[in-house]
Amino acid sequence: MTYPDTRLFISGQWQDAADGKTLAVFNPSTGKEIGKVAHAGIADLDLALAAAQKGFEAWRDVSAFERAKTMRRAATLMRERVDAIAEMLTQEQGKPFAEAKVETLFSADIIDWFADEGMRVYGRIVPSRSLAARQMVLKDPVGPVAAFTPWNFPISQVVRKMSAALATGCSILVKAPEETPASPAALVQAFADAGVPAGAIGLVYGNPAEISNYLIPHPIIRKVTFTGSTPVGKQLAALAGQHMKRVTMELGGHAPVIVGEDADVELAIKSAGAAKFRNAGQVCISPTRFLVHESVRAEFAGALARHAQGLKVGDGMASDTQMGPLANPRRLTAMADIVQDAVKLGAKVVAGGERIGTSGNFFAPTVLTDVPLGAKVVNDEPFGPIAAIRSFTKIEDAIAEANRLPFGLAGYAFTRSLKDAHLLAQRVEVGMLWINQPAAPFPEMPFGGIKDSGYGSEGGPEALEAYLNTRSVAIMNV
Ligand code: NAD
Repeated sequence: MTYPDTRLFISGQWQDAADGKTLAVFNPSTGKEIGKVAHAGIADLDLALAAAQKGFEAWRDVSAFERAKTMRRAATLMRERVDAIAEMLTQEQGKPFAEAKVETLFSADIIDWFADEGMRVYGRIVPSRSLAARQMVLKDPVGPVAAFTPWNFPISQVVRKMSAALATGCSILVKAPEETPASPAALVQAFADAGVPAGAIGLVYGNPAEISNYLIPHPIIRKVTFTGSTPVGKQLAALAGQHMKRVTMELGGHAPVIVGEDADVELAIKSAGAAKFRNAGQVCISPTRFLVHESVRAEFAGALARHAQGLKVGDGMASDTQMGPLANPRRLTAMADIVQDAVKLGAKVVAGGERIGTSGNFFAPTVLTDVPLGAKVVNDEPFGPIAAIRSFTKIEDAIAEANRLPFGLAGYAFTRSLKDAHLLAQRVEVGMLWINQPAAPFPEMPFGGIKDSGYGSEGGPEALEAYLNTRSVAIMNV
């Protein structure tokens, strides 16, 4: 298994940082260094910004039809290269190879959808008050975009932003995650090989705060898009606000899973239970707070604990692995802290609860019951393989508990009652709610949060709208 070093992609060329600086990349299964990634300095960012401006001027003048063709070629390349890309992704991020393949192939579907939707960016003709005049609403690309993306889905988190930007005729300069640099670089390579002009895509790595502090205020950048934690998102949105930059923020969540008294418990375990441990729980829409009706609580807790205990945890490249390691050692410390805090306050550990082994960042799939409201796990985003179960007796109380936190990203519910399903749809304060089914974050549907989980959408026509300026133009015959 070879793992490549990753360089910066500036003006259509892969290059080292001007000062030669690099960072080490580690395999989270072994803790061993597997490669290097170039660390950009200000001189590199200046080159990347100038290239993004040039790239924008070239790409906006390519017709939407031709842009779509180029993008679809990139999607085909991702499908052709899936095995090699997924292997890199597993080595740097830890998720099982099968999940890495799904992420890579799903990214191709996302590119295809945005490519097509880019051809449906319509303006409007609005009836004029004078017969001699024509009033038009025009949609134009906003300009060069600065994007900041995290390590949990190194490809998926970039591809939504990149596809929306490219489909609308923007250029995009991405600061991708230093922990997992090679798989986003492979995505960029696919677009480059497909024929996206120099500068339309740029890729840098380095010190996240230094890069965002430099790019966001820079006059070349017209739009900022970030996926990551709520505290960092708030800082970046504030900075963007000072410079009047358009912003999309996809931030943390704390997804409630409401299991009603009439729920299909088996379905709830199969969909939300399985989703809980996907990517070791390091998923912004991961189910986290299981709110279970008192009458089915014992049955549900037992089944979820058995599911968690039955999962095979190990190196993502092993064919029988169902859950890989956490992405970095600081997540291990965070998990141990969350469990200890809950236990101290009276919660019971019915599965897992501890690190596995002493090498690699493995943490056992964990289920906690009787979790008191004061525990960290039901207040701060756990971002790991921990499920917290609480019970309720009235659906209204479950909804109040679901809405108690400032987060509002994803939510799940299981009920056979049509009345409760409609009540949940109306009252649960989340950007995405899935009832009686697993998460379905397909590109044709809006993807994003409300409240402290951010604003803007990374799916559906709204995702393209976020990269467009709307302008009024009226022409009078003379
Ligand atoms: P973190 O907040 O330090 O970093 C999260 C991401 O933001 C990383 O990719 C990081 O490089 C980037 N980042 C941090 N500071 C930045 C800055 N000033 N400018 C630009 N980018 C910056 O947290 P972490 O320890 O890496 O991850 C744990 C937390 O991050 C989790 O608790 C979770 O809330 C959040 N997270 C969310 C998502 C998501 O999909 N929404 C993904 C990854 C991490």
